[in-house]
Amino acid sequence: MTRVSLLRGFQRSTNDPNLERILNARRAVVVTGAGLSAPSGLPTYSGEGSLVVPDQAPANVSDLATRPDEVFAYHKAIAQAMGMAQPTSGHRALTICQDRLAIAEGALTIFTLNTDDLHELSNATVHHVYGQLSTEVCVACGTKTPAKHQKSLCPCGGPRRPDICLGGEIAKKSAEAEFKRTMRYADAIICVGTSGESDIVRRWVRVATDHYKAASLLLTRDPQEQFGDMFETVVDADSSEIRHYLPR
Ligand SMILES: [Zn+2]
Repeated sequence: MTRVSLLRGFQRSTNDPNLERILNARRAVVVTGAGLSAPSGLPTYSGEGSLVVPDQAPANVSDLATRPDEVFAYHKAIAQAMGMAQPTSGHRALTICQDRLAIAEGALTIFTLNTDDLHELSNATVHHVYGQLSTEVCVACGTKTPAKHQKSLCPCGGPRRPDICLGGEIAKKSAEAEFKRTMRYADAIICVGTSGESDIVRRWVRVATDHYKAASLLLTRDPQEQFGDMFETVVDADSSEIRHYLPR
């Protein structure tokens, strides 16, 4: 990496060519993490993206076979805790940028590590890397339905399960495919509110910067050095500040 500008709050460096590329990008990929949703009042998670898994919590893929009722009840409790949360100004800034770029025949493609629906509530189009809590999916045919948080059968006869990645499972293939499709045409990758604990995000940033030579920016509180070093520009700020660092 050539250079990391560490800025506190909004303070645009005047001679950061990478930031100029971000601001002028017509097609950008954004990855959002727990730091974007935290100001909404959501419970915080220790494991980024996926659910916090206290020891013994019924949140591993093996639990689905051995104690499915507990798996559903556990996720119901988390979904209820999330129920009152509202999108933050960071979510809204991303939606506004997505709409603006779409009108300009560009695109802001949003991927989220979060399992909440706050991007959807803010009217953005989003791809969930680890699934979402509000839906369940049929194991046999893949049909998604609103979550009931209890065992149920699809009309095809297959059992439904939470539509999120449980412990021991990999990220959604659909998100990976969408990333590959989108990144080919993107000028920039922007990560918001993520500390780089997710293997998939680190890999995506590497692909974007090394292979596609995309401009790269990380905005998060207390960026970790190892993750920050992957980006040309790092901003140490609350996610609400992202509005200053999106394509114009
Ligand atoms: Zn089915």
